Amino acid sequence: MYSIRNLLIFILFLATFLNAKELEKVSIQLDWLHQFQFAGYYIAKEKGFYKDEGLDVTIKELKQNKDVVENVLNSKSQYGVGKSSLIVSRLNNKKVVLLSAIYQNSPMVLISKKSSNINYPNELKNKRVMLTPDARSAANINSMIISQGLKLEDVKFQKHSFDINDLINGKTDAMGCYLSNEPYLLEKRGIKYDILDPSDYGFDFYGGIFFTSQKELDTHPKRVKKMYEATLKGWKYAFNHIQESAQLIFEKYNTQNKSLDALIYEANILKRLSKIEEGLLGNINKKKIEEIQRLYTLLGFAKKYTKMPKAEEFVYNIPKTIYSLKESDYIKNKELTLLSNQNFPPFTMISSEKVTGIEIDYWKLIVKKLDIKNSNIKTFANLNEALKTIEENDSYVKYAFSKKDLNKNIVLSDSIAKIKLGIVTLTDKPYISDIIQLKAKRVAVPKYALFYKKLKKKHPEINFVEVEDINESFDLLKEGSVYALVNKMPTLNYMISNRNLENMKIAGSFDEKFDMRLSVNKDNKLLLELLNSAISKISEEQRDLINSKYYSIIFEDHIDYEGIYKIVLPLLIILIFIIRSNRLMNKEIKRRKEVEKELKKVANVDSLTKIYNRRKINSIIKNEVNRAKRYDRNFSIIFFDIDNFKLINDNLGHSVGDDVLIDLSNLIKNSIRKTDYFGRWGGEEFIIILPETNRKSAENIAYLLKDKINKNDFNIPRTVTCSFGVTQFEENDNEDTILTRVDKALYHVKRNGKNNIKVL
Ligand code: GH3
Ligand code: MG
Ligand code: MG
Repeated sequence: MYSIRNLLIFILFLATFLNAKELEKVSIQLDWLHQFQFAGYYIAKEKGFYKDEGLDVTIKELKQNKDVVENVLNSKSQYGVGKSSLIVSRLNNKKVVLLSAIYQNSPMVLISKKSSNINYPNELKNKRVMLTPDARSAANINSMIISQGLKLEDVKFQKHSFDINDLINGKTDAMGCYLSNEPYLLEKRGIKYDILDPSDYGFDFYGGIFFTSQKELDTHPKRVKKMYEATLKGWKYAFNHIQESAQLIFEKYNTQNKSLDALIYEANILKRLSKIEEGLLGNINKKKIEEIQRLYTLLGFAKKYTKMPKAEEFVYNIPKTIYSLKESDYIKNKELTLLSNQNFPPFTMISSEKVTGIEIDYWKLIVKKLDIKNSNIKTFANLNEALKTIEENDSYVKYAFSKKDLNKNIVLSDSIAKIKLGIVTLTDKPYISDIIQLKAKRVAVPKYALFYKKLKKKHPEINFVEVEDINESFDLLKEGSVYALVNKMPTLNYMISNRNLENMKIAGSFDEKFDMRLSVNKDNKLLLELLNSAISKISEEQRDLINSKYYSIIFEDHIDYEGIYKIVLPLLIILIFIIRSNRLMNKEIKRRKEVEKELKKVANVDSLTKIYNRRKINSIIKNEVNRAKRYDRNFSIIFFDIDNFKLINDNLGHSVGDDVLIDLSNLIKNSIRKTDYFGRWGGEEFIIILPETNRKSAENIAYLLKDKINKNDFNIPRTVTCSFGVTQFEENDNEDTILTRVDKALYHVKRNGKNNIKVL
């Protein structure tokens, strides 16, 4: 009796079988205690988003003394939540991979009681500030402070107690806190407060970054993809159902005993920082990562010349350069030939039929990295002929050392190696510890050398004598008609140790380095891209290996100074010590000034478009209003907004939208007068302040700009138009009234068909 009953049993059996399929166990290490800050993870778990992907996820809150990054790198948890300082971890070679940034602006800010009257960062002078001892996580706050002209020593930093009562009771003046937590506590107790938010000053770091380890990505790429997708789904749900999510946290994840009300407050602040409404949930932008890297480097978290890891290498959803079909075909089928100068030791040398040298070693590395099957090396004697070959045939390349390599048919690759520039003098001359010693001295330099232009510009104090080639430099030096000669260090090393040049020595070197690059036919963009990608993969160890092979160090010591040394040496050591520490100090002062200058720039400039940001524009308007009142002067404002910009984003993608904003900013920047101020007011809203300009002239300028924008090619399949409001300063205006009026003018245009101008 094979009845329906049997069928049912069979189906039940199947179902239990399916259910029994083991879920993969993974865990996420949070960087604080349970609260709305992590809502997306709880939702993904509780709503079964993880389970649907076959994952059983444990969410761990932070226990004392735990290091989230270390935990993830040691696979105690496979996933973690961290701050922008993850970028520093990666700079220091800790192999983390960033999956998504939940907060587009970090929630970390400084809070103070209103009664302390701290409205601007420079008012923190001599004030007590509680901040986490981990300077990396406070980098945005530190940057803000330095950018406003304070030194960190001017602030009295205290150990963070994480107790808001210390602020209330006056044990500290300001406190590092989360925009989503502490303000609520103060509001509840009726205490008025002020916030200093680094993102208002241009330091907008990411917060709440979901990350994993390179190891996890390499060994479980599918799992990473599932975690990435389910987590984002969780976040989307959490921000779109705040009430329900807060209720869930209140009931199941409330280790801090927060009130439901506090959780909802937190949710609303964090939703704003996530920029989910702008379609940016989880987004990690390559340019922003590079900017954060730059800031960390400025603040001294990485050496200035450390090679920055590329964002593509450690950010998950930024596509890596994987060879396309076209590219791999090219590599398989094409024959590629390096043309190498036959008489150019130690870059290229021929000995007993074999070609060796620095150029050759690097070439072999590149060929290997690209997996090129058919590659040759040919040597040449005539540079012009070699260049002609490259111009006519796109499968030849050569290294670029001469200005002749810079013609319009040839493009240069990224830098393959940095070559030091050395200085040779006769042996009786002193060593050169500072280039200033060459002031007004005659120094021979090959006139076609690629490094010459840069050197000449940097050192106008040197009297450079142009020569045809290196042999002529040595001739001039020998006969005493120049004081020194300059050339690439490996070449000089080679010449001095292998030729009969016994009365000459390497007396010093320049700080500037020469970039060794490859020249490629300009039409072969694919080859250039492939070469650059191979070059980016050359490691420091590989470079060191080649260096040590060809850089013999030359010692230069003939006279026996022993007797004199016994007396002079101790004095000398003391002297060197004094000079050195003096120099170090000067260097440090210089470095700090540079940092301050750079950070100031960041604070005034919009990071995407590089024009003034809203804060700077506000202060300019304030100044102009004061000036106009005090000296009875005049100024106007043009305020404009891109029409239907949302469509560009929606149809062509956010990054194309970004490019339009950048192009438009450049177009306007190059079209206004030097005395005008131009800035980004918000998303796709811009503002121009025109001193000494009346309504009528401002209107004319607006028409000119409108026309320029309409005619400009933005590289997208549609025209870009803007709506403009124009107004002029009036006697009783203040900053607010004039802005309100120009805003009203703009919205009049928006309501009446856009792409036009209204003057009020
Ligand atoms: P209108 O003509 O009325 O101005 O319409 P609109 O679509 O231009 O204006 P709306 O204010 O509706 O949309 C502005 C959009 O600008 C929404 C937001 O996602 C986008 N946006 C804001 N900042 C950026 C940004 O930095 N990059 C990109 N790509 N888009 C941005
Ligand atoms: Mg718009
Ligand atoms: Mg707008």
